[in-house]
Amino acid sequence: MKTSRRHFFRTGVGAGIAGAALLTPHGPSRAQEGEQGPGFYRFRLGSWMLTVLSDGNLVVPTELYATNADKATFEAFAQAMALPRPRYWTQTNVLLIDQGERRILVDCGSGGRFQETAGHLAANLEAAGVDPAEIDLVVITHAHPDHCWGLLDEFDEPAFPEAEVVIGAREHAFWTEEGLEGRVPEAMQAMVVGARRQLEGVADQLRTVEDGAEVAPGVRLEAAYGHTPGHSTLVLESEGEVLFVSADTFNHPVISLAHPDWHLGFDFDGETAARTRRRVLEMLAAEGLLTLGYHMPWPGLGRVVRDGEGFRWMAESVRWSL
Ligand SMILES: [Zn+2]
Repeated sequence: MKTSRRHFFRTGVGAGIAGAALLTPHGPSRAQEGEQGPGFYRFRLGSWMLTVLSDGNLVVPTELYATNADKATFEAFAQAMALPRPRYWTQTNVLLIDQGERRILVDCGSGGRFQETAGHLAANLEAAGVDPAEIDLVVITHAHPDHCWGLLDEFDEPAFPEAEVVIGAREHAFWTEEGLEGRVPEAMQAMVVGARRQLEGVADQLRTVEDGAEVAPGVRLEAAYGHTPGHSTLVLESEGEVLFVSADTFNHPVISLAHPDWHLGFDFDGETAARTRRRVLEMLAAEGLLTLGYHMPWPGLGRVVRDGEGFRWMAESVRWSL
């Protein structure tokens, strides 16, 4: 006889399990929804050991990933793709590159100053056995809260005291321009004040670099403007193995890839960001590069493939080994 689920629950075994669950006095346990184990994931690139470290989640209204989309078109797309709405829990995937002689952090989370669901980098570094004082270099892809507000600790002291902090010259010039907070929309003012506070707080450690600079052996910064005026991506190469760090070139694993021309509400210049997004996605699909996306589903590793007029994010198969 075929055992269906209904049959299972009608029998004594199924009824027994259900009955036991009902008798548990305090529900399933005292666990919190969303609770997880340590948020880090290690993998090799050539001779280096890489670790993705979670800074936690950011909660973003789903509609914010398509601010210029036709409402009916977006609605149909959202339904067809079963997009979580009205909000999306996006990841924040910080990267640590251990080259042996040098430890490099790419972006550093929001340091508990932004959304309360984020700010977990320090705890996850500790869980991964990494002392912040052992970081030699912090590379900032752009000066948004979720990428650079972790430069200072809760006492406003440098969180990575021994590290040099590298950022693109154009990005640095934009955020530190005098009087900028008075010239940006009100919604951006706190971002400007916060970015300046962080960058000024590490002024003694800071070095600005031009596009295309090799900031450490095998670690090259590349211009990908639009999301912010000087937003950068990175190309890492060790012993012929390559990882592309896409930072915030594309931010939603479904929307931004299927519709690269739809603007993200956080893009400083929507048109430029969309052009950059399409150019980078074209390149990634053509070259089949392993990619780390700061906001792609944990641990943020995957590849881009073409899909009709747009693209698709193919998550990399990762190993679970506790
Ligand atoms: Zn971001």
